[in-house]
Amino acid sequence: MIRTRFAPSPTGYLHVGGARTALFSWAYARKHGGKFVLRIEDTDLERSTEASVNAIIEGMKWLGLDWDEGPFRQMQRLARYREVAEQLLAADKAYWCYASKDELEQMREQQRARGAKPRYDGRWRPENAKAAGLKPPAGVKPVLRFRNPDAGAVTFIDLVKGPITVANAELDDLVILRADGVPTYNFGVVVDDLDMGITHVIRGDDHVNNTPRQVNIFQALDAPLPQFAHAPMILGADGERLSKRHGAVSVMQYPEDGYLPEALFNYLARLGWSHGDAEKFTREQFVEWFDLAHVSKSTAQFDMAKLAWLNHDYIKQADPARLAELAGPRIERDGGRLADGPALVEVVKLLKDRATTLEHMAEAAMMFYRHMEPSKALIAEHLTPEVMPAVRELASSLERVEWQRLKLNEAVKAVVAKFGHKMPRIAMPLRVMLLGQTQTPSIDAVMEVLGREAVLARLQPYLAES
Ligand code: GLU
Repeated sequence: MIRTRFAPSPTGYLHVGGARTALFSWAYARKHGGKFVLRIEDTDLERSTEASVNAIIEGMKWLGLDWDEGPFRQMQRLARYREVAEQLLAADKAYWCYASKDELEQMREQQRARGAKPRYDGRWRPENAKAAGLKPPAGVKPVLRFRNPDAGAVTFIDLVKGPITVANAELDDLVILRADGVPTYNFGVVVDDLDMGITHVIRGDDHVNNTPRQVNIFQALDAPLPQFAHAPMILGADGERLSKRHGAVSVMQYPEDGYLPEALFNYLARLGWSHGDAEKFTREQFVEWFDLAHVSKSTAQFDMAKLAWLNHDYIKQADPARLAELAGPRIERDGGRLADGPALVEVVKLLKDRATTLEHMAEAAMMFYRHMEPSKALIAEHLTPEVMPAVRELASSLERVEWQRLKLNEAVKAVVAKFGHKMPRIAMPLRVMLLGQTQTPSIDAVMEVLGREAVLARLQPYLAES
């Protein structure tokens, strides 16, 4: 059975890069009828917060990334890391190190001065300590270090990048338990991936350099290796690391900005993976199509314009009732009164083909929910003495006409013909009188949505002959 996991560190919001990686792990498990595990890697005590755990969970739920097990928390598994650490200690594959910070710094400085790469020199390996006559200093809490193999090389096959080999000489004895008993990332991750039966470790490229160390720990534990797949980093359009300059980087900024979850989901799925030239697809298609063979080796580029295009498309096809529910609170937040205007779902139907985001849609819908007095300039420009007789005639025919878009359109056309005006000559003043502005959906649609009573009431103040 395939088992994958998403293992975020709760040190901030859910980042789009993290979400993309979660999406891949989730899809891989779903495609193969496996399990997807959520694990919170909260061992960085200074930077981990509960608010961040909640933000991550909220972001995953919004994107519809459901997990089968967890959230597990590393800080609740300390006894287990200690147990595995003791196993390594007993097998002489780990040892206590008493080197102080100053001492380590000095070691590194000397190495740098010699032109060597800074690395821990293994001085507390039991045989070295003994040879040097080192004794554990009193009152110092040691850290536990992993005895990395000295010779040979470590090789693993990355399902995205192919085989990767690193000489053990490149790797030093890394700390696996800190003095306070909290595991370091590379140790916690191995124990957890092992205990949680993870078969495929799918994560960001930034961890590829950690993998050889993790492989050595798996091997020291005589444990089977999971498969590894490192998904490419996501960069901004300028090739720089993704940051706020390129658009929102927090997943939960997107609902706020008026994006639909299916649009962001679809967009993220294409960041570093492709299926032919398919750009728009459903969750089900993604699960069906996803494979690691089509995860790209090269970096992916975050493109706000493409995301906006997808969002626009998903808004167009979304259920108007759902869009109304999402847009309504935005309109009220900005001072619109839904109770004073037509049913929002009808307004949404008029606007959704042109809205890029729910925010834009709410902005456009505002003209129906906050009565805007037209400016004097607009009145002077459009409500001219030449056109008002036609408007009056229309107003009177609107009292009787069947209230339906097509009939309203005919009514307008009839006056246009009778008075020999062009269509805009009459549509513009109507827009100005009804909605206080000239940028509106087509005038027959606007009238239909507003309803007879509101239309006649809004025209009334302008009809008196002077
Ligand atoms: N906790 C790590 C991170 O947030 C992920 C570790 C992993 O996936 O192995 O970067």
